[in-house]
Amino acid sequence: MAFESLSDRLSKAFKNISGQGKLTEKNMNEMLKEVRMSLLEADVNYTVVKDFIANVKEKAMGQEVMDSLNPGQMVVKIVRDELQTLLGTSDARINFKKTGITTVMMVGLQGTGKTTASAKIAKYCKEKLAKRVLLVACDVIRPAAIEQLKTLGKSIDVEVYSLGTEVGALQTARKAMDYAKDRQKDLVIFDTAGRLHIDDELMKELQDMKSYVGPDDILLTVDAMTGQDIVTVAKEFNDQLSITGLVVTKMDGDARGGGLLSVRSITNVPVLFVSSGEKVEDLEAFHPDRMANRILG
Ligand code: GDP
Repeated sequence: MAFESLSDRLSKAFKNISGQGKLTEKNMNEMLKEVRMSLLEADVNYTVVKDFIANVKEKAMGQEVMDSLNPGQMVVKIVRDELQTLLGTSDARINFKKTGITTVMMVGLQGTGKTTASAKIAKYCKEKLAKRVLLVACDVIRPAAIEQLKTLGKSIDVEVYSLGTEVGALQTARKAMDYAKDRQKDLVIFDTAGRLHIDDELMKELQDMKSYVGPDDILLTVDAMTGQDIVTVAKEFNDQLSITGLVVTKMDGDARGGGLLSVRSITNVPVLFVSSGEKVEDLEAFHPDRMANRILG
């Protein structure tokens, strides 16, 4: 499970230093080296780790820490706080409008779990937040994506709007909004085009969709299993589309979890949901404090 090994290694590093009555620069550096190694091994991005260690070091080298009765524990606390900052300090949620229809655009590379995540979020909002949801199939190039969304919609009892592959994505979106107004929906989730790689055509299509729909949220699905690539992809999507939230998928696999830590830090965009399985119920709202506790025990 993600973070298990990180969690083990950090607790060992903490145990060593917590027992020290007096803190020397040497044992502090040893501890920081261990923290650095455990983050890198968990697949956290190199730059993120570098900044992390530099921040901890700056705070921990202060005289206040060195002179305190329990310097080891103070340093452990500094690492904990820094990790919490990395994960985010408060819960992030969908930007629901006070009145009218809230719109969410789901974006992401093909295979990251975007279509499944669209349905999972629809189910979550319907069941937990009592929203009337409409899913819209805007990946009009791939008939399989439309069929997949329809099947998912049926399984969670949420309507799926589609005009097939003959009608463009923008027109589908416009008609879907009319439909949603008529049926007094609260939330419309657009499953947009996905491709295997980022290219200009994909970004142009998504930018057009963004200016057309004016979404309240643009959520990017990123696959935790893709290791370091997750950062490059997220940065590119964010630069081009100013995404508002992240959905980290496939946290159930043998991903070491570092992607989740890096991606939030590099984009400065909060993680809203974490997906850890193929089933529609395998989605959780992301609570950074709970995740920090899980990692730090
Ligand atoms: P899309 O191309 O981005 O729309 O991706 P899909 O939603 O079609 O998902 C691609 C594959 O990943 C499917 O086989 C999904 O069942 C699977 N998948 C999606 N999310 C998760 C997850 O959190 N964990 C696991 N193990 N598989 C997932």
